[in-house]
Amino acid sequence: MTTATEWGEDHFIAGHLALDFANTVYRRWPETGADLFTDTDALAAWFARAGVLPDNSARARVTETTLTEARTLRALLWTVLDVHRDGRRPLPTDAFAGLLDTARHSVTDLTLRPDGSTSAHTPRGALAVVTLAGIMLVLNPPPRGVRACDRCGWFFIDSSRGRRRRWCSMKTCGNQAKVARHRSARP
Ligand SMILES: [Zn+2]
Repeated sequence: MTTATEWGEDHFIAGHLALDFANTVYRRWPETGADLFTDTDALAAWFARAGVLPDNSARARVTETTLTEARTLRALLWTVLDVHRDGRRPLPTDAFAGLLDTARHSVTDLTLRPDGSTSAHTPRGALAVVTLAGIMLVLNPPPRGVRACDRCGWFFIDSSRGRRRRWCSMKTCGNQAKVARHRSARP
């Protein structure tokens, strides 16, 4: 039996909703690690923690179908974001079409306001909020684009002053890299 993920601030290091959503596996490199969306409760708790579906009753309404859709959306985001990050090829239209389909499929579960804000009424609507955020990110990228942790592949936006962020977090990957460097430097 797997235990449901306890979401904490260490899971929300990306500086962007769609990237935090994409970072819901233990790691992406060198191979895909454990899925942090362990079950429907974990997904409902993520929506609440991310602030996309604050309604406490959301938990009961996340179905297995929505969980499957969430995992599919995450895979589409990886495909699009990895190409975006690489910066040398056009975005893959198949995966991008998948994102548009996801948004279209769920847009009626949202309120879209004239000021550009959105709020979800259902878990499926919450997936649409994440999807729209991802689409907007790649169409209007931040100055240095989307980056990924050298060690685990989690995505983030580098808003550090020196623009030299290499790790998802200094506490985890940054520290491990430092220890590894120290070890290999020893005679
Ligand atoms: Zn990392």
